[in-house]
Amino acid sequence: MRALVVGAGPAGCTAAVALARRGADVVLVEADPEVRPSGPGLVLQSAPMRALHSLGLLDDCVGRGHAHEEIDLCDAAGVVRTTLTPPSLLEGRPASVAISRAALSQVLLGAVTASGSELRLGTTVTGLADHGDRVEVSLSDGATETVDVVVGADGLHSHTRGLVLPQAPRPRPTGQLIWRAPGPRPPEVTRYSMLDGGPELGKVGVVPVSDAALYVWLLEPDRGGGRPPPQRLARVFRERLASFGGPVPRVAERLSADVDVRALQTLLVPLPWSGGRTVLVGDAVHTTSPQMAYGVGMAIEDAVVLADVLTEDDVPGSLLRFGERRFDRCRLVVETSVQLGEWEQRPPADPSLPGRLTGRVLAELARPV
Ligand SMILES: Cc1cc2nc3c(=O)[nH]c(=O)nc-3n(C[C@H](O)[C@H](O)[C@H](O)COP(=O)(O)OP(=O)(O)OC[C@H]3O[C@@H](n4cnc5c(N)ncnc54)[C@H](O)[C@@H]3O)c2cc1C
Repeated sequence: MRALVVGAGPAGCTAAVALARRGADVVLVEADPEVRPSGPGLVLQSAPMRALHSLGLLDDCVGRGHAHEEIDLCDAAGVVRTTLTPPSLLEGRPASVAISRAALSQVLLGAVTASGSELRLGTTVTGLADHGDRVEVSLSDGATETVDVVVGADGLHSHTRGLVLPQAPRPRPTGQLIWRAPGPRPPEVTRYSMLDGGPELGKVGVVPVSDAALYVWLLEPDRGGGRPPPQRLARVFRERLASFGGPVPRVAERLSADVDVRALQTLLVPLPWSGGRTVLVGDAVHTTSPQMAYGVGMAIEDAVVLADVLTEDDVPGSLLRFGERRFDRCRLVVETSVQLGEWEQRPPADPSLPGRLTGRVLAELARPV
């Protein structure tokens, strides 16, 4: 089987690796001339870690990241109210790991190369012609590839989605802004702390990602009014963080000026997630806001399930089955994250609701894919 994968983010890299491991001949095209993961870091939860483990990539991620067995939920002053202790799903491995996006990308690109897949940077798809028994893919470098299957893993603004599912809904804003910046990790800051300042101040996370580094995020209502100009972003971010205590003052003063601020968006494309021999995976069909910290997780699980269901004798049918197998689980993550985001903006009368919902959904996600 010959496969063409579009996009070298987490979904595309893991799809390339998983398909190549099943014996497929894989070409992975990435529009950017170099792979530039956006944002400083992320958290891999236990179920995605299980998926990474099945690809043999978990230990490398744990080695480059920072293991978290617990998360401290604090008030704005940094006083710990509750400590979450999610269970590990893998013997001898941590419950979750935080890692810089650059390190995760290195692990995944290394695995792409080791799998024998061909990576073509600075290349994108300009056209798809599905002939029933094969797809002819026109590429921006002028080449044409004839393949059995196309995997669109080109993210939230997927061009492939526009080619195969032109009626798919558009991403929509959730009403929140997220600020993120990396910084050095003081030795005493070892735990993932989340500080809740309520709807006005927002929420802050301090996330160690290695022995040397951490990142800080701030989630707040999007009040409109545009972004500060790039040269003022770092200062405005520090001003916002000044309302928070605990580890925040110590880490805020040394944060990098490389601040990423963006409006959160969400998308859940209804089934089918494929048309003929082309299928969409990752953010291209299910973009979640980060409340459950599960977007990369779903992308990796997609890759594992896709390689599991794909059969050469019925590619279109197996792609339809892929979507059916993944939809409910991805909908659970997207809808739960949206609900948690709404409660962050308008807290429920019963303050225990967000914690109870999160616990129930994490237990559900711990079930095998
Ligand atoms: C603020 C924030 C925090 C988050 N935190 C977490 C977290 O802690 N844990 C977690 O699991 N998830 C988290 N996520 C979600 C996660 O970042 C995404 O779900 C994940 O990156 C999706 O992977 P992907 O490969 O589908 O898409 P992307 O990461 O968007 O990768 C798409 C790739 O395709 C390439 N591309 C785009 N268009 C084309 C084209 N036309 N041709 C070729 N290539 C193309 C892009 O350059 C890119 O390399 C967070 C998201 C946000 C916004």
